[in-house]
Amino acid sequence: MAKTQIGQCALCRQNKELQLSHIVPNFVGRCLKNTSPGSIRVTNEPNKVAQDIEKHFMLCHDCEELFSIRERWFANYFFNPYQDRNETIYDYNENLTYFIISLSWRSLYLDLAEYVMDTDFDQDILMTLFRAEEIMHDYLMRKRADIGSIENHIFFLDRIQSISKLNASKSPSVAMHRSISSYTVYNGETSFTISNLMGILIVTFYSMDSKEQWINTKIHLGIGSIEARNQNITGVVGQEIQHWMNQLEEAKNNLSPTQKKKIEEKFENIGDEIKNYPIYQDFEDDKNLC
Ligand SMILES: [Zn+2]
Repeated sequence: MAKTQIGQCALCRQNKELQLSHIVPNFVGRCLKNTSPGSIRVTNEPNKVAQDIEKHFMLCHDCEELFSIRERWFANYFFNPYQDRNETIYDYNENLTYFIISLSWRSLYLDLAEYVMDTDFDQDILMTLFRAEEIMHDYLMRKRADIGSIENHIFFLDRIQSISKLNASKSPSVAMHRSISSYTVYNGETSFTISNLMGILIVTFYSMDSKEQWINTKIHLGIGSIEARNQNITGVVGQEIQHWMNQLEEAKNNLSPTQKKKIEEKFENIGDEIKNYPIYQDFEDDKNLC
C-alpha cells in the first residue's frame, strides 16, 4: 500500500497529502510486539498474523504532528510507567484530555461512516454521536476550550479481580493486557468510544444512563491526578470486557492444528525465559483466579 494519498484531511478539512495513520497510537502496537513471545494475531482471523495494527488515510502531516505531541506525552507519563508497573498515581495536565479526545475522535469518525449506513441504528444516538464528533473536532482544532457534556474516564485493568461477575476461566488478565482495540458502541441510552491500550481502558462517554457508575475514573479538563487503585465500574462497559474475552476464547478455539503446534513449539523453545515476558504475570494472575 502507498504511504500517502491525496484527499481531505478529517481534522483541518483541507485537501492535502494524507498520511497512513494508526487509530491506536503506534507505540502501543510496538510495545505489544516487543513484549510478546509470539506474533500479534487478529482475533477474528486467528490463523493470520497481523503485520501491523489497523491503519487508515485520514490526516495530513500537520494534523498528525499535532496528535503525535500528545501521544508522546501519554507514552511518557502513563503508558510506559504503567507497563513497568512502578507507578500507581498519575499526575496529568490538559495534554491528557487532548490525547483521549484525539484517540476517541479518530475512532468515532471512522465508526460514524459505517453507522450512518445502518438503518437499524438508533437515530437519537446517531444524532448524539454526530454532535459529539463536532464538539471534539472543534476542541481538537482549538475552536473551543471545553468538551461540553462529554466525559473521559480511565480505568486501569491492573489486577482483574476488581471486576466482579466475569468468567475467570476465559483468561481475563491475558485478554485485557495483551490486546489493543478502539471502537464506538451504544447500549440503551449509554453511548461511548472504548479503547483498550494494553490494560489501560479509555472510555469517552457521549451519553450516560443513570445506572452507569464510575468511581475514581473521571479525567478533568485541566490539571489533576488519577490513581490505579480503588476504581470501580458498574454498567454496560463490563459487558464489553466480557465480549472481548469471548472473542479471545473463540479465536483460541478456531486456531488450526498447525498454528497451535507452531505456537506450542515457540513456547517450548522459549522455555524458562517466558518468565521475563509481561504475559507470564498475566498467566499467573489468571491461574490464581480459577
Ligand atoms: Zn490536516
